[in-house]
Amino acid sequence: MKLVVDGCAVATMDGDRTEHAVGHVVVDGARIETVAEGRAPRGLPDSTYVDGSGCLATPGFVNTHHHLYQWLTRGVAVDDTLFDWLTTLYPVWAGLDEAAVRVGATGALVQLARTGCTTTMDHHYVFPADGGDLLGAEIEAARSIGLRFLPTRGSMDLGASRGGLPPDEVVEEIDAILAATTEAIDRHHDPSPDSMLRVGVAPCSPFSVTGDLLEQSAALARDRGVRLHTHLAETTDEDEFCRKKFGSSPVEYLESLGWLGPDVWFAHGVHFDDKGIAALASSGTGIAHCPSSNARLGAGICRTRELRDAGVAVGLGVDGAASNEAASLVEEVRHSVLFARAVGGPQALTVRGGLELATIGGARVLGWDDQIGSLEAGKLADLALWRVDTAAHAGIADPVAALVLGTPPPLELLLVQGRVVVRHDAMVDVDEERLAVDVRAASATLLGRTVGS
Ligand SMILES: [Zn+2]
Repeated sequence: MKLVVDGCAVATMDGDRTEHAVGHVVVDGARIETVAEGRAPRGLPDSTYVDGSGCLATPGFVNTHHHLYQWLTRGVAVDDTLFDWLTTLYPVWAGLDEAAVRVGATGALVQLARTGCTTTMDHHYVFPADGGDLLGAEIEAARSIGLRFLPTRGSMDLGASRGGLPPDEVVEEIDAILAATTEAIDRHHDPSPDSMLRVGVAPCSPFSVTGDLLEQSAALARDRGVRLHTHLAETTDEDEFCRKKFGSSPVEYLESLGWLGPDVWFAHGVHFDDKGIAALASSGTGIAHCPSSNARLGAGICRTRELRDAGVAVGLGVDGAASNEAASLVEEVRHSVLFARAVGGPQALTVRGGLELATIGGARVLGWDDQIGSLEAGKLADLALWRVDTAAHAGIADPVAALVLGTPPPLELLLVQGRVVVRHDAMVDVDEERLAVDVRAASATLLGRTVGS
């Protein structure tokens, strides 16, 4: 059975950045068969037509950094710096269990889908001793919603008693971390071209993990052929921590541990000097830019212009909802453009450059750009169809500007692997009212369970 999205504007984000004022996309099963100018031929056999007039089709968005569980802890420590915010939240997160992660992940994944996301990573790094199978719980949530998923098995092994930031209750032993990470890869990672589920390895950050864990995690990831991720250069506090403890910048420290390469991407990358950017570019290391989270925590803003000029792959991330209560991927596109220009002037990031970060840029960051990130014949059918003819956008000269600079448009259709996940701006397989009730209850339970309170 084929699906024909017909009569819409199309921003393909292919190699030539081809756009059609009126075009169509034909999806055959899991893959895109045709992307072309003009209306589709009438009467294609075994086909369902979707009227796309008044809409803009883009590739489904790719989210390159998140902590899904944080959906349950929105609105806490709302005026704090990163380190103070973390210190407040670690004891709350110490109460996580499978039920909490399942509900929190579902809430966060629904918000992603509703804001144009078809592929998301997750960075889960809090594993309380009696928490159960937390990675399994979020994988189940992603499968039931139907998003393409790249969960990373995160970790922390540098507790406060050894000079780290997190309290000892939320860190694990290095051997247990490596064993659990190996098991997660063996159990869940699917490297096939049609994969809906790949697994990565992601120790948390320089101030919450040991150098030993970073080195051994990199060795494990490379042995298994999976990707590597961590937070890096998010705040000046972290920069100072690295210089004081290791005598080097965050990038130099990670480089010394074998952590630069085309299989690595870092979240944030706010505080890079020119030398750091050159090292990222020459090694093929990618960056997950999280504009709303960085602004929410007053961390500064990523040097997207310099990174892109140097050839570094840059994608967008909403980051965990505890530091970005909106967790809306379409809003990150707008913020990436506005914040880049606020700092670097009107040429710092174009409207189409912002869309590129959310689509093919993010796909490159996740090492998945051979299959997703653009609307092209042969690629997986991950597509967002945005309605740009309502009162908020009607008459706007440029549909891409409507999406990037305007208020977030209704999402007419979201396809993942050719399957409809969102239709008429609502989830097709999720009872969103029921979900709100479940999230409210799970948040109250988790906050009431705060360790040490
Ligand atoms: Zn993060």
